Amino acid sequence: MDEKPKALADGVPPNKHPFGLYVLFSTEMWERFSYYGMRGLLMYYMTKQLFLGTPETTVFGYASLKWLLESFFGELSVQALSSQLYGLYTGFVYLTPFFGGIIADRWLGQRKAVIVGGVLMAIGEFMLMNQSLFLPALCLLILGNGFFKPNISTQVGNLYAPGDHRRDRAFSVFYVGINVGATLSPLIAGTLGEKYGFQWGFFAAGVGMLLGLVFYLSGQKHLAADNVMKQAASAEPKAVEPLAPEDWKKIGALVVLCTLNIVFWGVYEQQGNTLALWVDANTNRRIFEWLTPTLAPMYINHSWYPQMQALLAWEMPATWYQSFNAAMIVGFTPIVLAFWKWQEKRGSEPSSVAKMGIGCLLLGLSFLVLLPGAKVVAAGGKATLWSLTLCTAILTVGELYLSPVGLSLVTKLAPPRMVSMLMGMWFISSFFGNYFCGFMGSFWEKMSHESFFLMLTALACGAGLAMFALLKPLKRAIGHGHEEAVDV
Ligand code: GLN
Repeated sequence: MDEKPKALADGVPPNKHPFGLYVLFSTEMWERFSYYGMRGLLMYYMTKQLFLGTPETTVFGYASLKWLLESFFGELSVQALSSQLYGLYTGFVYLTPFFGGIIADRWLGQRKAVIVGGVLMAIGEFMLMNQSLFLPALCLLILGNGFFKPNISTQVGNLYAPGDHRRDRAFSVFYVGINVGATLSPLIAGTLGEKYGFQWGFFAAGVGMLLGLVFYLSGQKHLAADNVMKQAASAEPKAVEPLAPEDWKKIGALVVLCTLNIVFWGVYEQQGNTLALWVDANTNRRIFEWLTPTLAPMYINHSWYPQMQALLAWEMPATWYQSFNAAMIVGFTPIVLAFWKWQEKRGSEPSSVAKMGIGCLLLGLSFLVLLPGAKVVAAGGKATLWSLTLCTAILTVGELYLSPVGLSLVTKLAPPRMVSMLMGMWFISSFFGNYFCGFMGSFWEKMSHESFFLMLTALACGAGLAMFALLKPLKRAIGHGHEEAVDV
């Protein structure tokens, strides 16, 4: 059984976090700035520039890729091919972390893996500035993320000793970093890309990744030591013991949770897919229009009247919706953390698995808010953007209950020498989730919007109920031998 090793967090007061957390926070914030900045431009770049004209001659590898995809899916228009590529890219960036985790656990260590990943991604972003290198650049980004993403997340957990109650909170703080980057990037890289040319958006994404590397490299001394199997083996020839039955039980429990998570991410990722269509075509984005009856009479004889009219008639660009969730994560995290702290004091803070179950239920319930709007749309009208905002707010709270808590749980349960690999497995649920999201998206035009949203509710609530149904066996598997050390 593991004894309680010393951790960097042990040296700081119990209500504070070690400085290493802020190093990881800034690194991941800039990496996500880079990732989401590029992702926000990707569809527009492919459909409005790159694949128009004669991409066979201007984009290296295009002809072979098109041939390959068309042999599976039949003839593809520019839009369909771009959507397929978008799906493949966003899916594969979450598949490679599994292998990046194994490589780090076995040979490279988490630190080197993060550096290799960051360098590959920076090169990939800069390569995107040259249109002929588009496909090799995407491959580098996919590979780089595989090295980077699981290992940076693992390092957050490595700062804390087993049983340290700050670990969950630390992941929530780290998650804010992710979402500060995700909120800023559409505004900076997105705007540069749209206004001055796509290459400048990708340039900004590359610079963001370099900044992340600078923060990471300069904060090395604040990070925990790597967990590497090879080190254990060389320290003591027969140190790589087979896993104990309790470890297998915990891994089994993580597999079950990750499988249920596929449903969570499949439903959640609709934000970038069908909800992006919904916000574009079916919502009224003149978000101040409802103020007209109150404000117009007040300003009618005022010199500001034209400005007021412009404000009331202003229509929010549909793409801005993609920043809602990330900005809300940043705003809601302190509230959710304060709530958990309050619950902790009263002894009623839910366990990690229960939190994840609540997260799924909230995600499912959020879509109920869209049902009245779906009725209005079916009758030929437009839904309000406010209902979508409320839906996003609820699902964001759901995400806060599931995603950072799940990351934390992986680092609590995984045997130290396979923690990065299991973190990679966590991200595989996002790979399948993204695929499942696309699959469900293909029903968008075949079903009524009302039934579609109800289907999302049923799926996410089903996953949540399954987590609650499995709560006892999961806790038994997870807690075995660790009752006092692991808060699950
Ligand atoms: N939005 C989070 C991130 O970018 C979670 C992504 C995921 O696991 N699907 O890290």
